[in-house]
Amino acid sequence: MNEMRRIYVDHAATTRLSDRAFDEMVKYLKNEYANPSTLYSSARVPRQAIASARRQIAECIGADASEIVFTSCGTESDNWAIKHIAFQKDTGRRKIITSQIEHHAILNSCKVMEKLGFQVVYLPVDKEGIVSSELLKRELDEETALVSIMLVNNEIGTIQNIRELSDLAHEKGALFHTDAVQAVGHIEVDVGRLGIDLLSASAHKFNGPKGVGFLYIRDGVALDPYISGGAQENGSRAGTENVAGIVGMAAALQENVDDLQRHREHLSELEELFIRLLKDKKLDFRINGAKDKSPGILSVSFADMDGEMILHRLDLKGIQIATGSACDSKETQISHVVRAISVPERYARGTVRFSFGSDNTCEDIIYIADELMRIAGSRKKAGE
Ligand code: PLP
Repeated sequence: MNEMRRIYVDHAATTRLSDRAFDEMVKYLKNEYANPSTLYSSARVPRQAIASARRQIAECIGADASEIVFTSCGTESDNWAIKHIAFQKDTGRRKIITSQIEHHAILNSCKVMEKLGFQVVYLPVDKEGIVSSELLKRELDEETALVSIMLVNNEIGTIQNIRELSDLAHEKGALFHTDAVQAVGHIEVDVGRLGIDLLSASAHKFNGPKGVGFLYIRDGVALDPYISGGAQENGSRAGTENVAGIVGMAAALQENVDDLQRHREHLSELEELFIRLLKDKKLDFRINGAKDKSPGILSVSFADMDGEMILHRLDLKGIQIATGSACDSKETQISHVVRAISVPERYARGTVRFSFGSDNTCEDIIYIADELMRIAGSRKKAGE
């Protein structure tokens, strides 16, 4: 029996662990398994591995090693960045500004802050998903403790002008955090050039292992620990370190950063081919997001179709895509991002996200476009 072809085009949900990252991790899972906090000599190797991974990761984003704190995932980094404000009662600042298109790790953390009595402003975005600096300026005041705006949106790929936004926040004495989970390892990220104070990242989005991420905390920014316990991470994040995960994350990030240009070109080529094929087939669709977007994340809205139906029909053909964001995938309603960018109702329900990766080929793209054509054709025949 022929095995069904499997085409994975959901890289914004997660990625395959790179071979190099896996190879480097094995040693710390099987042999060098000592707890890095212990005092005997065998703890030296994992301890040094963590230090070296920290330096490597810092270099990849233009930071200093002392500014990187390892966490369990992007969600934890986001929670910490938002909720630390609650521990800083003496600043008197009780307002957070974010955007309507953030990931739920940010939005739901903000909801908790509202319950604690903080004011949260959710800035609207334009049709391309861009946060307006004018609107931010209007909302910023002496009460604002933190502005949190994502670097790359996980559903539509839009890249924000973070520098402009962070400069505005700093003028009012507020801290600036960016959720860069979809950016790190995919586009150039330099914390100095972005002018930010805090940045979240997650290894499994850039071919690293699941269950590990980091928070960049600019030197001079004091963040109270979010997870209390032992003295790991210089007392700022307790819990025995995920040594293999940290080592794998550094290896994967280095590999992606070294190959960034080629990776971007490959993804752009796939996207262009895909859009050309959809146009050639005369499908009625629109591409969501801005011109300045991260290559690889492509949100497409098909007229008079249902995103979930498309997802299941493609799944039957071995093609894996998403409707909204990964965390939204059990819900059928129109995602908060698609709503926020005002996609017309006729198209909004037929929104799906293709997120391409290094392993995808032009052949894959042709196969997906052909299957989409079949889905659209069969619906017409059925008179839906
Ligand atoms: N932020 C963004 C923009 C994301 O896309 C995701 C994951 O989909 C997260 C945060 C959460 O990251 P993690 O899966 O590592 O918790």
